[in-house]
Amino acid sequence: MNRFRLFCRLAVILALTAIVFTPADAKKTKTPTPKYVFFMIGDGMGINQVYGAQNYNQTTGDGPQFINFTQFPVRTMVTTFSASSLVTDSAASGTALATGVKTYNNGLGVDPDHNPVHGLCEWAHAKGFGAGVATTVGVNHATPAAFYGHADNRNEYEKIAQQLIDSDFIDFAAGGGFIVERNTGHDSKYFEDRARDAGITVLKGRDQFRNLGRQKGRVICIDDFESSTDVPFAMDQKPEDTTLSDFVQAGIDHLYGNYGKKGFFFMVEGGEIDGAGHNNDAICNIKEINDFAKAIDVVLAFYEKHPDETLILVTADHETGGLELGDNYIMHPELLYGHTKSEGEINKLFREFAGVGPDRNPLPNRRIPPYHEMQQFLSEHLGLWSTIPVSEPQEAHFRDLYHRAFVLNETEMVEALYSVSNRIVSDAITYADRQAGYIWTHGGHTGSPVGLYVKGAGAVEFNACTDNTMISQIIKRLAKY
Ligand SMILES: [Zn+2]
Repeated sequence: MNRFRLFCRLAVILALTAIVFTPADAKKTKTPTPKYVFFMIGDGMGINQVYGAQNYNQTTGDGPQFINFTQFPVRTMVTTFSASSLVTDSAASGTALATGVKTYNNGLGVDPDHNPVHGLCEWAHAKGFGAGVATTVGVNHATPAAFYGHADNRNEYEKIAQQLIDSDFIDFAAGGGFIVERNTGHDSKYFEDRARDAGITVLKGRDQFRNLGRQKGRVICIDDFESSTDVPFAMDQKPEDTTLSDFVQAGIDHLYGNYGKKGFFFMVEGGEIDGAGHNNDAICNIKEINDFAKAIDVVLAFYEKHPDETLILVTADHETGGLELGDNYIMHPELLYGHTKSEGEINKLFREFAGVGPDRNPLPNRRIPPYHEMQQFLSEHLGLWSTIPVSEPQEAHFRDLYHRAFVLNETEMVEALYSVSNRIVSDAITYADRQAGYIWTHGGHTGSPVGLYVKGAGAVEFNACTDNTMISQIIKRLAKY
């Protein structure tokens, strides 16, 4: 072939290539603009928590074989350190996720110099989009509060509660209630009434918020569990209890009903994954993650109807408990199957069993149960001795604890961040978890990076994320906030 003919051929190929890649096609491949953005945050949900839950589900058949977001097309990880520590708390990491600004631990919606910083809900609303937050803990707890509030310290709960009421850019909020400060004489109802006085519709229990599509104006949904501002742990819930999935469905109904044409931003927190981590309670942690995944199923059902316009991000604010998977090559997740109530509920039952009052002192005329009844108790609620063999040194340890509690009358308690547990119950759970291969390093947060799992319009853009402050910036750019 002579040079001229070769040149002609090349020219034809180049021309064809130019036809194939017309500007119209270039337009098609440009980054899509997500209209409906879901930001799902598992509080304290480290990578080992997620895959430890999946290991349990796969071994026992009790839960999804693949936790939905582990199958999302984009999976990366982000660092979580705060401005004051390599190990963040939920206020600093919530601020980083909501606003893109690193702050000091306990700082909420403020920068290290205590100036207020603004974030996704406010940005979205300023551009005419809807905005909402939902959680399983109090609506003014650190993670949701970082999306609307500003406080030098996250524990200024009543100031933050009022900020939620005053935040007209929050169209929808849901959670277990308003957390109040000690010694103010207030309760959640006090702030619910203040919210009503401000013109917000406050609804309690899922029966009241089943069809929110036509509900106009701002809405706050609260569960119907009066004695706590936390929704009960998933493993302790009764069928009639309000769940995170109910909150998410209510939020979608309300936000889509009011902003369907324009779009919305919705932050959803699995807030008690962290509590189970602080308690070092593996099965409770697993069930909270499965419950969070159920709420994500509700979001995925919405995604199926709007696949080109929906963006779903799942991440965590930090890891809690320093969870290790496997003890020297051995892991038996199925050994957790006999553990059927959260540590807190087992403690309540143990108090009754041991004849100890709520003040932790032995009740007058209590019956001292024999040791074998304590064994039965731990077998019934944790599977010790029945499904989990108890080693000789551990048996000696339980006998020693029994002697101290029931013969010497020394009730020993173990304090976690959000709970206080009888030493016998706490040590039994730690032992059972270890036999199953779920080994907790301590009761606090760690500086481990966390997973970022993304699906939908613009998902691939999040491959660029290496730190938690970058996520909100990319959402802002993509969704045009
Ligand atoms: Zn925590």
